[in-house]
Amino acid sequence: RKAEWEKLKDAETLSKDGKKFELAANIGTPKDLTGVHDNGAEAIGLYRTEFLYMDSDEMPTEDEQFESYKVVLESMEGHPVVVRTMDIGGDKHLPYLELPEEMNPFLGYRAIRIGLNQPELLRVQLRALLRASVYGTLRIMFPMISNLPEFRAAKAIFEEEKAKLVSEGVEVADNIQVGIMIEIPAAAVLADQFAKEVDFFSIGTNDLIQYTMAADRMNEHVSYLYQPFNPSVLRLIKNVIDASHKEGKWTGMCGEVAGEPMAAPLLVGMGLDEFSMSASSVLKIRSLISKLDSEKMAALADKVVNEATTSDEAEEMIREAVPELA
Ligand code: PEP
Ligand code: MG
Repeated sequence: RKAEWEKLKDAETLSKDGKKFELAANIGTPKDLTGVHDNGAEAIGLYRTEFLYMDSDEMPTEDEQFESYKVVLESMEGHPVVVRTMDIGGDKHLPYLELPEEMNPFLGYRAIRIGLNQPELLRVQLRALLRASVYGTLRIMFPMISNLPEFRAAKAIFEEEKAKLVSEGVEVADNIQVGIMIEIPAAAVLADQFAKEVDFFSIGTNDLIQYTMAADRMNEHVSYLYQPFNPSVLRLIKNVIDASHKEGKWTGMCGEVAGEPMAAPLLVGMGLDEFSMSASSVLKIRSLISKLDSEKMAALADKVVNEATTSDEAEEMIREAVPELA
């Protein structure tokens, strides 16, 4: 299998019937770029910038951030790099940023909620990103968006910083797509409305599953409820992909499900545009996709989404229809 995967390193990702998909990698720091190139990822679908903050004793400066973003963009030589603005809070703390003690940190002061409440943090990051944008194809996404006003506010800050830089004579790219993570059910349900305003979606299944099933992703006592194949989760995913396509936008997925072989048939069938995963999974998934017929998978996805009543039933339907998984 290794030898077969090796041959796919420089290949496009095509289903058996020739439909094209993009296989991207998730990274946390520029150090992860080696793995991205060694495994033939076509893009970076999630750059988790919070490590930049967590690996430091104080808030990283605009220049420090700029350097990291520039390295990543240059290394990808024009292939897209989706950078997520900082997702601090929840389980991720910073010694130099005082955050409230919370009963439910995952439902609390986290990610874009911090970014909008302490906009100077978000502004610094967006300036660094805007300055780096000329070194490649930059896409920016905001984490933990739950309603449209949050996206509008974050986008407005982006536009303001862009205008400021331009008036200062700094060159910035004019093709930066701005999108959101879909990881809160409220946003997944209203995807049709979001799709009119964002450039793209990236589905964060790690959180989307936790919030849909109300099962803490770190709590072993409720891990049986953490079900990627629960039909409710699958319906939300399909709703998001369909809504984006209706508006001519694209949808990626950057949670763990994107690199899960059992999920690939459904995601191919639903027409997910971009799969972003740990680099070490890219070749395995590219190989699997090359064996799947996208039309047959679309029929399978419809059947699963409409008829499965439990996670087990959904998995059983997939296993039955896709012998290549065995
Ligand atoms: C997710 O929630 O699926 C995701 C990709 O973000 P994180 O795992 O960093 O919360
Ligand atoms: Mg998340």
